[in-house]
Amino acid sequence: MFALSLIMIAHAFWGPQLAPKNLAALLTWVHFRGLVVLVILLAGNLFCMACPFMLPREIARRMHLPKWDWPKRFRNKWPAIMLFVMVLFAYELFDLFADPWWTGGLIVGYFAVALFVDSFFRRASFCKYVCPVGQFNFLSATMAPLEISVRDRPTCDHCQTKDCIRGGFASATASADRVSKTRDTTDRLALPVYQRGCELALFLPRKVGNLDCTFCMDCVYACPHDNVGLFARLPAEELTVTGTRSGLGNLDQRFDLTALIIVFAFGALLNAFAMISPVYALEQWISDQSGLQIEWPILMSLFAVGLVLEPAILLFGAAASFRAVTRSTGSLLSIVNRFTRSLIPLGFGVWLAHYGFHFFTGFLTVIPVAQNAALRSSGSAWLGTPQWQLGGMPESIVFPMEIGFMSLGLLGSWLVSWAISTQVSPQRAMLGFVPWGILHLTMFIAAVWIMNQPMDMRGTFLGG
Ligand code: SF4
Ligand code: SF4
Repeated sequence: MFALSLIMIAHAFWGPQLAPKNLAALLTWVHFRGLVVLVILLAGNLFCMACPFMLPREIARRMHLPKWDWPKRFRNKWPAIMLFVMVLFAYELFDLFADPWWTGGLIVGYFAVALFVDSFFRRASFCKYVCPVGQFNFLSATMAPLEISVRDRPTCDHCQTKDCIRGGFASATASADRVSKTRDTTDRLALPVYQRGCELALFLPRKVGNLDCTFCMDCVYACPHDNVGLFARLPAEELTVTGTRSGLGNLDQRFDLTALIIVFAFGALLNAFAMISPVYALEQWISDQSGLQIEWPILMSLFAVGLVLEPAILLFGAAASFRAVTRSTGSLLSIVNRFTRSLIPLGFGVWLAHYGFHFFTGFLTVIPVAQNAALRSSGSAWLGTPQWQLGGMPESIVFPMEIGFMSLGLLGSWLVSWAISTQVSPQRAMLGFVPWGILHLTMFIAAVWIMNQPMDMRGTFLGG
């Protein structure tokens, strides 16, 4: 992944500046995004596991640079939410999908921020508190069929060392199976082997699901009892779990997580809405009405409506209806906190439909672009002459897949909100489910309408 990042950065700055012919723009906006969601759907958060931004942290750590703990007041999701919104905003304002140079700048900036944060702060501060891609992957991975968890709980009850969270120096015997694979075992066996524990502060016996888990496998290697592994589970079930979770606390009291989920779910609609023709007509209308001739305030007003006003009206409206029909005495905010996580399956379905559309209709375009890059950089067609006619699957096949992804998302959201409704109001669960079911259906219909519009074929030649 790191080598691929270097190739993308080089091509961004020194390759052709036409996005569909540039590896940085094409791989970032078509292939990377599509593969992230598809791999999470089929397996888990494997992109965090292989993240090239981990490398700066490893270098900084080996140089013993990090000295501080992440400041307590920022140990929440607000920094990452701000960056998440800024990336979505910059993507639209600067048309990043069409700009290889700025896409390269974004990748370099990402490395720089990761290096900066992890050079000063201990543990995985960048992943847990800063990285917007990580937060996207954490929420999406609640839909994944795999998770890291303990094999046998009673073993943890009797465990003295808790190395899975504390890390530690493995004894030569415990590490023998690992080091004996190397040639010179004698000297190595004499050395203590340091293994990190979970740097995301997830204590395995009390870890729930995939939230905040980067799939780094440190805990798997650290556990002296070989009691941690990668296991199959029921996707989305973790969204219905109540109580305190290791590393996250009680989700019902985490409004920052609620805000992150709102940006994730409503951002999916907004991001897809921004690439269809009606958005241009709407922007023109706002410009005519307000007299504004520059884009950023118009775009900002669309973001304010899409990410703040609309979610506030819909979520507090559904919470007020829930409270009225179930005669619940909880505050509106506590009900919103409790039910907002039911938006994740539908939000993930919309991201899947959107990113899947670009990926499936254009996944073969990387071949001629790589061939062209090899030809231009070396002067010989050692990858073959560019086959510019290659594209992907026809839209007539991809569209039903999009509807399928979103329908599964709707079903998941309904099941999660039903489960939460039975927990909060067992006597009137069906009545309590109705407002949330209607909210999900409304978002689903909006998403289907958006996907049904003619779309920008961003980053590929297919748009003509
Ligand atoms: S996962 Fe391993 S190291 Fe952690 S408490 Fe359980 S047995 Fe101990
Ligand atoms: S150490 Fe284990 S629990 Fe912690 S982030 Fe890595 S894989 Fe997940």
